[in-house]
Amino acid sequence: MPDFHPHHSVPYPYPRDITIPQFILDSDTHPLRPSRLAGSTWLVDDVTGRAFGLEEIRERVERLARAIREEWGVRPGDVACLYSANDVDYPIVIWALHRLGAVVSCANPSYTHSELEYQLSATSSKLLFTSSASLPTALKAASVAHIAPSNIVVLSPVPPARTPGECFPTSAQAEQGEFATVQGLVDRGWDLAKNYAEPRGPDVGDSIAFLSFSSGTTGLPKAIAIAHRNLIANVLQVAMHERCTERGLRDEDRFALPGDACMGVLPMYHIYGLVMNLHFVLFCGMTLVVCPKFNFQAMLESIVRHHITHLYIVPPQVVMLVNNPITKRYDLGHVRFAMVGAAPLSREVTEKFKAMFPRMRMGQGYGMTETCTIVSKFLFQQESVNGSAGLLIPDTVARIVKEDGSIADYGEPGELWVKGPQMALCYANNQKATEETFLPEGWVRTGDEALMTKEGNLFVVDRLKEILKVNGYQVAPAELEGHLIVHPYVQDAGVVGIADEYKGEVPLGFVVLEPSVAARVRASAAEAGQVTAELKKWVADHKVRYKHLEGGVEFVEAVPKNPSGKILRRLLREQAKEVVRLR
Ligand code: AMP
Repeated sequence: MPDFHPHHSVPYPYPRDITIPQFILDSDTHPLRPSRLAGSTWLVDDVTGRAFGLEEIRERVERLARAIREEWGVRPGDVACLYSANDVDYPIVIWALHRLGAVVSCANPSYTHSELEYQLSATSSKLLFTSSASLPTALKAASVAHIAPSNIVVLSPVPPARTPGECFPTSAQAEQGEFATVQGLVDRGWDLAKNYAEPRGPDVGDSIAFLSFSSGTTGLPKAIAIAHRNLIANVLQVAMHERCTERGLRDEDRFALPGDACMGVLPMYHIYGLVMNLHFVLFCGMTLVVCPKFNFQAMLESIVRHHITHLYIVPPQVVMLVNNPITKRYDLGHVRFAMVGAAPLSREVTEKFKAMFPRMRMGQGYGMTETCTIVSKFLFQQESVNGSAGLLIPDTVARIVKEDGSIADYGEPGELWVKGPQMALCYANNQKATEETFLPEGWVRTGDEALMTKEGNLFVVDRLKEILKVNGYQVAPAELEGHLIVHPYVQDAGVVGIADEYKGEVPLGFVVLEPSVAARVRASAAEAGQVTAELKKWVADHKVRYKHLEGGVEFVEAVPKNPSGKILRRLLREQAKEVVRLR
């Protein structure tokens, strides 16, 4: 069986000679780029109303780049970590660093200090950009990762206390005076002459733009090297898929119209937020309404207030939209487009959504960090097929490999392999993991089980790889297992996901206790309750919220393993299903 090909390709060469800010900010002449209203707002902060247009963005990026260069001598290839909630300055920081040729590693702003420290060390980050709210955690992580406080920059000024004695965020407030701020650097940049040469050249797009984290098919989270040209390619592929500048379309079939506005609620650190919700949306001429934190009711209010036309969301948000009665209080009539990605969305929820919002064009997109991001997506101009992850986007080829290694025909499930210009380069400094996932001839193993229909619809039917997806976020079982095993009560551990209506999955820990603790647990139910609480707390104290053992803790005699000691995850998943059935 031959490979599966998309219906279209991008009829223009993928640029290799430009960087991301050059592509997004310096030229609007690409034939796939929709026109934008003259002088329109690019970024607006949902909470403060702070807004930037193109000229202001370009000026801010330039001033910031000069000041960063002056202060820290940042050079091409240096890595800076961006550990912040969404902010209008978030892309400004990214593009300023890119202008200097630096690499950006975006970290989840909710990470605990040990999670952040892992990322800082793995990427050898030299500078750390953070928000005032995350400053205390950033400081703790930075000190372990040998980043001096003088190499920390705070994104937005701390808002003044609203009431006397209000404590948030006092620790940050007290400390902030000691730190450089983005605004302070921008102000300083006004007095500086151009002090750097922006990287240019025929292959500048091959250089690394981001080090984004994913655990891939197995093991701990790893840094993925994403080149400038990968992100640019994905933006162009999706623009072609959406038929962005095709002539002769009716207005209602046009993906982007001048004056459109998109909700920016996805975290910008995650590949889906970074590529689609930020860069693609701005490429398409929309105003991006930047939301620092997701709150369901606030999101509904913002949709109405900003006349939002486009939504990029994750399945838990769709479940809220269909199940939460407050949705009906808001008129979401301006929304023409809603794409759902990062995790599977059931047919039932999709049906309910479509029935509630018949005028919205809605469907799924599929992708992963390793594929910088979109591989398939529903077509804006057609009714999407419920449960499908859409059609392959231009220039993306898929192969479905069955368990026996043969290539699947239409309708047959197997592991999905993909290739295209958006595929990331490799796992940085990790040849073994790179060889397992980034295969010869450009194929990337997704670790997802999928099938293709004759009509070209891709269905993701299961996940073969270890990761769990909680609220669309990756949880690596190996990370939680490694953490549980160092607790003095624990001899061995295996973590799997169990289904959750809202979150998709939540982690459940199977734990083999030390013999003396196991004896106590067997003797008394109260003791068992205490040990369970202690282990849940052990995870909760060190890991970000979505990694907590909300699926519970089960005590077992042994974790099933093969002779070489590898956890038999399929068996463990079966065991988890049985546990859920008996609860
Ligand atoms: P991440 O690298 O965090 O974006 O995670 C990528 C993984 O999310 C994929 O390999 C899939 O397992 C899952 N995923 C993303 N989009 C979808 C989708 N539409 N349907 C099912 N799973 C998805």
